[in-house]
Amino acid sequence: MKNLQLPFDLARIREIAAEHPTPFHLYDERGIRENARRLLKAFGWNPGFREFFAVKATPNPHILKILREQGFGADCSSLAELVLAERVGITGEAIMFSSNDTLAKEYLRAKELGATLNLDDITHIEYLERCCGGLPELLSFRYNPGPLRQGNVIIGAPEEAKYGLTREQLFEAYRIAKERGVRRFGLHTMVASNELDRGYFVETARMLFELARDLQERLDIRLEFVNLGGGMGIPYRPEQTAIDLEALGAEIHALYDEMIVPAGLDPLAIFTENGRIITGPYGYLVTTAIHEKHIYRDYIGVDACMANLMRPGMYGAYHHVTVLGKEQAAADHVYDVVGSLCENNDKFAIQRPLPKIDAGDVLVIHDAGAHGYAMGFQYNGKLRSAELLLREDGNVQQIRRAETLDDYFATLDFAGIR
Ligand SMILES: *Cc1c(COP(=O)(O)O)cnc(C)c1O
Repeated sequence: MKNLQLPFDLARIREIAAEHPTPFHLYDERGIRENARRLLKAFGWNPGFREFFAVKATPNPHILKILREQGFGADCSSLAELVLAERVGITGEAIMFSSNDTLAKEYLRAKELGATLNLDDITHIEYLERCCGGLPELLSFRYNPGPLRQGNVIIGAPEEAKYGLTREQLFEAYRIAKERGVRRFGLHTMVASNELDRGYFVETARMLFELARDLQERLDIRLEFVNLGGGMGIPYRPEQTAIDLEALGAEIHALYDEMIVPAGLDPLAIFTENGRIITGPYGYLVTTAIHEKHIYRDYIGVDACMANLMRPGMYGAYHHVTVLGKEQAAADHVYDVVGSLCENNDKFAIQRPLPKIDAGDVLVIHDAGAHGYAMGFQYNGKLRSAELLLREDGNVQQIRRAETLDDYFATLDFAGIR
């Protein structure tokens, strides 16, 4: 079962809101740190284990600093994410650059930073040589198993996914890279998103371990690491259960002892580049009910909208909602909880049983700590909210201010318009 415990109560949120008006995203530093340590411990048996936090999930320097302090690297896929990682002090091989459809200037910056380049296509070997004046010493490739694996809803079936190299291309790519002087190699894949079944990731490890053996046999290439990618899921729904990280670590350990050690491929570092499981459950979108409306359905209008959290509108995703101070009240009303966009998919909850909600009630939308703020946009002239950090000592620090109208108009030029 999902953990519905909140690291704050109504009184504390009222204090915070007096200084930082709703809506805002609030991140729980203690939760993030404890969870980070838990992941590292689960894979502590693997000497080179490293998690590269997927920056796109929560691209805020204060969050990245916390994760850097826990020993995490950064998984980047754009110029802005590379610059962000660098400015937080994450550089060199602590950056995994897992991009696709990559721009020359992005490869250039990644190579300058000494990042590990994880190529999405065989043609990128030449592209990289041309735009960066040569290949780096270390190179990784992203494998797409195609029909050999099932995907899931968010990422799609591997066969239909735009990412990675086919199996045939993969061997060819390593052969070419080796021929052109690359000396160190890694292997990456990512075939699921928001997947709660840990068996899926054990199978991914098996697939990569098999490839590690094949690469050794066929091309005499000894991999330094296999990167399982991101995509581990979190229980958005109350009846779902989080991935048992300790069991996952142990099962992959057993597989490693069975497949990697006897093949003489030990040590082989295991990398992950999760975003969602690292920060997702430890971020909350806090919003105030401002309107109630009764037509064919009963609506609660809140002061946040899809600009702050797109997942429900974009994927039909479920996010749990708690009405603060009414945790124990019976969920005897059925509401659509909506934002103010002129888009009918701007709904945080649809036909959701909740306690009776009155204007002024504070609603907490759970699991907004990853792919939440980050996906926000300004459609309809809606501005993105602030991000706050609930520190381990209980204090609250603003780690991103809310946007203003000036931000919205900053890229426009009104000269000569009237
Ligand atoms: C998005 C992404 C991740 C992180 O995904 P999560 O679902 O947040 O774990 C990791 N690697 C790559 C290449 C990605 O595109």
